[in-house]
This record gives sequence, C-alpha cells and structure tokens, in this order.
Amino acid sequence: VIQMRQVCTRFGDKIVHDGLDLDIRRGEILAIVGGSGSGKSTLLREMILLHTPDSGSVTVLGSELAGISDADAAALRQRCGVMFQKGGLFGTLTVSENIGLPLREHSDLDEASINEIAAWKLSLSGLKPEAASLYPAELSGGMLKRAALARALALDPELLFLDEPTAGLDPAGAGGIDALVRHLHALYQPTIVMITHDLDLLWQVTHRVAVLGEGKVLAVASMEELSHMQHPVIRDYFDGARG
Ligand code: ATP
Ligand code: MG
Repeated sequence: VIQMRQVCTRFGDKIVHDGLDLDIRRGEILAIVGGSGSGKSTLLREMILLHTPDSGSVTVLGSELAGISDADAAALRQRCGVMFQKGGLFGTLTVSENIGLPLREHSDLDEASINEIAAWKLSLSGLKPEAASLYPAELSGGMLKRAALARALALDPELLFLDEPTAGLDPAGAGGIDALVRHLHALYQPTIVMITHDLDLLWQVTHRVAVLGEGKVLAVASMEELSHMQHPVIRDYFDGARG
C-alpha cells in the first residue's frame, strides 16, 4: 500500500534519506526503527503529506504524492489516521469533541451519531466513558495516547500511523497499548505503520521491522530474522536496544 523509491531528503547539508526504498504491504503491522536522527519521523511525515522529499517517489494507496492535487490529498488524508507523538489534541476541546472533529469535517452525520461513534472509538481505545467530557490537560500520559488513538480511528482508516505509541508511558500503561494495537488489527486489519523502540511492541505485535541507517532502509524483516543478521548497523541497534 506504500511504495517509496529512491527517496532523497536533505536539510541544509544534512543528508537524511539517500536513495531510500521501502514497500509496505496491505494489512501488515510494520515498525520503523533506527538510531536517533536516522530519519524515522521524517520518513513518516513523507508518507502523510507533511513533508516532500527532494527527489524520488512516494506512492500511498495508489496515489503518487509528488504533485498530488489538493482534492486527491484531502481524499487520501481521510483514509489515513495518525497518532502523533505528543497526541496533538486540541486543548480547548473535550476528548469527545476532539474525536468527533474528523467526523464533523468529513461526514454529514448528525450530532447524536457523531457522539455515538466518538464513544465507541473511546471504548475501543481502552478509555472509560467518563473520559469523553474531560479536556486533554486533565488526562494522564497514557490516557492522552489513547485519546489520540481514538481520534486517529474516527474515520476507520485503512492506514494507521503511530509515532512512538508507548514512549513516556510507565510499563503498566505501555503493556496495555500492545494488546490494544493487536485488538485493533484483529478487528479491522488496517495497515499499521509505527515508529517505536518498545521491544514488547516489536517482538509481540509487529509483523516486519524496517531498520533505517545510512540514509537507507538497511533491512525489512521479522524481529526473529533481524536478530540473526550480521550487518554492523543492525547489530549495533539490536545490541544497544537489548541494553
Ligand atoms: P529521533 O529518534 O531522535 O526522533 P528520527 O530518526 O525521527 O530521530 P528525524 O526527526 O527524522 O530523525 O530527523 C533526521 C535528521 O533531520 C535530524 O538530524 C534532524 O535534526 C533533521 N531534521 C528533521 N527535520 C528537520 C527540519 N524540519 N529542519 C531541519 N532539520 C531537520
Ligand atoms: Mg523522531
């Protein structure tokens, strides 16, 4: 569902992507890993129209992103759900209003239906109904991540992007996210692309892992396969992650 071909990206004289290739399959759960500054967040931004590479091609759900029309970009955005690292919820809206926002924007549903869907996505994300009327500032870190996930799920996305879904959570909160991602995948079979360092997510939830390094995708393989590879950058990453 996503193809990246010979993608090159630089910021000033810093080369981030240097002829990067990546294929993501429909329905898989793929994680992106790599050292700090290896270009993971930039890669994600390039898949969701937040950044355009200097050269190369990015195709998402059949649309080539370079030169995409505004109408096609809007249609594509509706098919993608994104959970940003910091949550990205609007502080002046309640959790329920935040979840309802994409529905208000992209559907003709009435208020009652929107609230009903918001409540369902909230429970799907593992939040209690009482959370609906709270404001983002009133939520704990774990609740905030779940609320952001609920909003990402509002439009039943075919593609779900998660930026560090468990970063900053205590082990109890993070453990719940593993089960949640697995449950969601079993329900809808969306394609899920996540950036994570969480070894539980990597080993228990992802089908394949793409390792970034030297401006390229060095390997895309299961954790089991990666753990046997000898490439020095992959070994460094794994031995460091095992810590
Ligand atoms: P981290 O693990 O620290 O989140 P990352 O793999 O997500 O790192 P990116 O955020 O993609 O890395 O950044 C890759 C490199 O590009 C970094 O050196 C960063 O400083 C630089 N960079 C990213 N975005 C910009 C920007 N908008 N302007 C200038 N430099 C940028
Ligand atoms: Mg990053």
